[in-house]
This record gives sequence, C-alpha cells and structure tokens, in this order.
Amino acid sequence: MLKPHLEEARKRTKSLVKIEDFHIRDDLKTLGTGKTYFVKTYGCQMNVHDSENIKAILEMMGFSETFDMMDADLILLNTCAIRENAHNKVFGMIGRIKHLKEQKPNIIAGICGCMAQEEVVVNEILDKFSFLNFVFGTHNIHELPEILNRAMHQKNIDIEVYSCEGNIIEKMPAKRDNKYKAWVNIMYGCDKFCTYCIVPYTRGKQRSRRFDDIISEVKALKDDGYKEVTLLGQNVNAYGKDLHLEFDMSDLLEAVAKIGIERVRFVTSHPWDFTDKMIDVIAKYPNIMPYIHLPLQSGSDRILRLMGRRYTKKSYLELFDKIKKNIPNVAITTDIIVGFPSESDDDFEDTLDVVRKCKYDSAFTFIFSPREGTPAAKMKDETPLKVKEERLHRLNELVNEYALEANKKYLNKTVKVLLDEESDKEGCLAGYTETMKLVNVKAPKEMLGKIVDVKITEVKTWSMNGEIA
Ligand code: SF4
Repeated sequence: MLKPHLEEARKRTKSLVKIEDFHIRDDLKTLGTGKTYFVKTYGCQMNVHDSENIKAILEMMGFSETFDMMDADLILLNTCAIRENAHNKVFGMIGRIKHLKEQKPNIIAGICGCMAQEEVVVNEILDKFSFLNFVFGTHNIHELPEILNRAMHQKNIDIEVYSCEGNIIEKMPAKRDNKYKAWVNIMYGCDKFCTYCIVPYTRGKQRSRRFDDIISEVKALKDDGYKEVTLLGQNVNAYGKDLHLEFDMSDLLEAVAKIGIERVRFVTSHPWDFTDKMIDVIAKYPNIMPYIHLPLQSGSDRILRLMGRRYTKKSYLELFDKIKKNIPNVAITTDIIVGFPSESDDDFEDTLDVVRKCKYDSAFTFIFSPREGTPAAKMKDETPLKVKEERLHRLNELVNEYALEANKKYLNKTVKVLLDEESDKEGCLAGYTETMKLVNVKAPKEMLGKIVDVKITEVKTWSMNGEIA
C-alpha cells in the first residue's frame, strides 16, 4: 500500500523527470474481455483528458464502455479536489457504489484523480469506504493495467498513490470524446503554489513535455482530421521554464500554428507568465483563436498578496488592456473567488471595479473553499457565509450583465462556428465561435465537423442561436 503524503507532495525535487513510452503487458490485454466499464469524470479539462487516456487503456485491456453505471463490471471515479462541493459529490457517488456492490459483489470499483492524491481523503476511504477495490493517483494512470490486475485478484483495497511527481509518459492512448476537437497536454503539474490551491500538491511539480513530442501529436491529430487542438496545462504560459531551454510558450504556440491545423486554443493562463511575445504570436496567426481565459481571482491588491498571485490590480489591468488592444476582437473570460479569508467589503468592491473595467465575456465565480493542507485553509476567516453568498450574487449579476452585453454585439453578424456535436435543441447542431461562444445552429447532421459561416439570429447570456449564412 502506498498512501499519499502531504509533506512529500509539497517538496520540489531537482531530479530530472524521466520520459518513457506507455506499454501494456501482453497478458493484461485480455483482462477485461467480455466486461464493461463506467468512468465518471469530475473537474477540469485535465481530468477530462486523463479520462480519455483511461478509457483507451481499458479498451486495450478488452473492456467496453457502458454509460449506465448499473450495468458496469468496473466503475472508476476520476475525481476533482478543487472545491468542497466536488468532494461531496464523489463521496455521494461512493455511497451509491456501496449499495450496488451489496447487490453485485463482483463489481470492481475505485477512484483516481486529484482527490486520490489527498492524504485526508485516502484516510477517510480506508476508514469508511474500504469496500472499494483500488485507489490510484494522477502520477500513475499508465499503471492502470497492473493496478486492476491486482485489484481483481485480491480481497483488500489496493492503494497506489505517489506523492512526488511522476515521469512523463509518452504515447499514451486516448479515446477522445470529440472527433473534431482534441486536448493536447503540453505540461503537467504547477509550481506557482497560489495559497488557496491544491493543484501543486495533487499534480506535482511542473513538467513540460518535449517540444517535438507535442508537435508530433498535433501533426498526427491534423492528419486524422481534427479541426481544433487545445494545448492543456495548469499554467500553460510557464511552458518550458522547467526545461531551461531557449524556447517558451510563444515559440510552441507559433510552431503549433504553423502546422496548419484550423484552430489552436490553450488553457489555462496565469497572468504573471503572460508575455508580450505571446500576445504578438496570438495576434499574428489567424488560426490561434482570439479567446483568452485570464483568471483574476480578486481585484484587491491585499487579497492578491494573500493569495500569492504575484500580480496587482494595476498590472492585471495593464495586461488586460494590452491583450484587448493588440488582438483584434479577442474575448476574455476569467475566474473569480469571493470570500477569501479576511476579504472586506472594500476588497470586494475592488473586484467589482475590475469586472466593471474589463466587462468580461464570461466568468467562473466561486465562494472560497478551504483545501486542507494549503496555507489559505489556515487563514483566519470571519466573514459569515451569508455575506459571501450576497457578494457572489452581486458579482454574478454584474458578470451576467456584461456577458449578455458582449453577446449582443454578435446579433445579425456572421461568424465562423465549428459544428462539433448535436445540440439539445431539435434539428440543431452545436459548436463554438472563434471567441468561444456556444451557438446552436439549424443544420443537418452531415455538417458535423465543418467550420461554417453562421448568422447569429438570437443572443442569450450563455449561448446564441443562428442559421447557416
Ligand atoms: S497557477 Fe493555477 S494551478 Fe497553479 S497554484 Fe495557482 S491556481 Fe493553482
């Protein structure tokens, strides 16, 4: 049994990260023959892509996917640790699995992802939920075949979670959710240690993939007919810094754009690492989409300092203005935390002030959720929940007002949309504009996967409707 350890996870080693290719033992390729699996994913795009890798590995082992947990022989929850809410959802689901296992004791079930990297969670599982068969973390997804082999042949729960960062595994298979858009990891982990964030502990130190490996993956995706790639990392702007080489994120973006795939996106950006060179590259290549997610978190310098964010209200606004000025028609979205420990009314007013100045296209807003083991979880927090909820409500009203205002600019305009899935609206396909606006378009299924000109006929706060121009 290898349990996660918070102190170990906090350490940053100087050791070189090894790069190895994914490999599956021949005798494990039939372990799942005739059996079904159900994977439930929580959290961010990183987890979504991890689940794509997990599903492909399971299918290499002979398992086939079911979308009904009641039918599954193998249940796997790929978890998120970013907020208490995500925790509670996972524990609720584990409760459902318990009932299911009482009726069907042969079901194999386990958890992986960021919650599995938390010492406190694994202790709770051992204490109350040891009917689960296995737990593994974010650093050893590639070991899934061996982990399942052990779990299927032993009685006790198998726990295999590395606290320190893992190697970089190349040639990981992926069962991609979408046939036209693909996630491409460019880096793993994060070294920023924002004081509220659990990611540097659950995902380990920053490890950038080799430039050539990323380029090869994007070229292969283009050859396979993919129209869009999103370069993925916790802080993509810091790409390459750990490799101490001559190139950085702007060089990578430029090289990916030159491959000629129709749409290039990237997520997530830390304002501190956003360079002028990156802005120039985004502005220069029409296939790098004019959409940037630029987390603000707070507009108060005092709170930003407590958060360890490394920028001020002034420097954030300068960066924002530079991006708006240099990238034509760019859309910018953000993340904002309200109710960080000791946030006063004045601090919150500073956040509203930034929102008024930036008029974001959209924002993900949250009430601060203390994550055990992070510095912010130990900070004194006397603001009543009711006050935090009121602040969130006020913030959301403002954010929604600007989101609708931004969308209204699209009314009766013609924009390019990649139609990538069937819409919930009858007779419609859904897709995104270059600026990441969701559009429902009246169109036949044959148009799936095409980038088309769409005339916007109706706008709402979160989506638009349109017709083929
Ligand atoms: S940069 Fe992002 S992932 Fe890294 S510690 Fe800060 S909030 Fe967390």
